[in-house]
Amino acid sequence: MTVQPLPLIAGNWKMNGLVADGLALASALGDRMRAASPAPCTMVLCPPATLLGAVAGVLEGSGVLLGGQDCHSEEAGAYTGSVSTGMLADVGCKFVIVGHSERRRDFDETDEMVAAKAAAALSRGLTPIICVGETLDQREAGQAIAVVEQQVKQSVPAGGSGVVVAYEPVWAIGTGRTASTDDVAEIHGAIRGVLGEAAIPILYGGSANPGNAAELLATPEVGGLLVGGASLDAESFWQVATAG
Ligand code: PEP
Repeated sequence: MTVQPLPLIAGNWKMNGLVADGLALASALGDRMRAASPAPCTMVLCPPATLLGAVAGVLEGSGVLLGGQDCHSEEAGAYTGSVSTGMLADVGCKFVIVGHSERRRDFDETDEMVAAKAAAALSRGLTPIICVGETLDQREAGQAIAVVEQQVKQSVPAGGSGVVVAYEPVWAIGTGRTASTDDVAEIHGAIRGVLGEAAIPILYGGSANPGNAAELLATPEVGGLLVGGASLDAESFWQVATAG
C-alpha cells in the first residue's frame, strides 16, 4: 500500500505583522498542531524576516516548520537588505520561498536568479518553494502551459530533487479569484511532466481559503497549498490546514 504524504500547507505572511501579532498567530497555530493527533498536514509558516527568530521560539516542539519569504543566492557580502540561506538556516528555517510573483514583478527576478536562489537554499539544507505562474494576459493568449513549463525548466535547479514547486497563477494571487480545479489539474499535470519526478510536491497558490481548500487539495497532482491572505488569521489557516 502506498502511504500518501501529508499535504504541505505553507502560509506566506508577506509584509504583515509586528512582533506581537506574529507571536500570537504562530502560537495559536503551534498550539493547535501540538493538540492535533495525527497532524493534519505538514505546516510551514513564512513570516517576515524580522519575525523569524521570535516565531522560531514560539514554534519549538509544535512540529510547525519555519520558512523565509526570499533569500539571496550569495552566502554573504555587500548585498544591503538581503538575507542569505545560511542566515535563514541559522534562525531555524527549513524552507524558503523563491521566485514569488511579487518578487519577479517588483524586483525583476528572472528564472535564472530564482534557480540560483533555489540552489543556494539546497546547499544549506533548506527546501526551496519555487513559485511559477502565468499572468492574466498570458492565460488569455493561451500561453499558460508554455509559460509555466518554461519557468519550471529554468527555475528548478538541475535534477530538482529536494525542492517544492508552487503553481501560483499571478491573476489569482490576492484577488479572490481561484483557478478552476480543471485548470489547476491541467497545469499541475504539465509541471509534473516537466519534473518527471513523483517525489516533488506541487503546491497550488492563489486565493486559497477555507471555502475552496478541500476541493483544491483533492485535485490531481496538488500536494498542498501556498496561502497568503488566509494565513494571517489562525482560524482560517487552521481550516485550510485541516481540509485535506
Ligand atoms: C501568495 O502570495 O503566495 C498567495 C497565494 O496569496 P493569496 O493566498 O492571498 O492569493
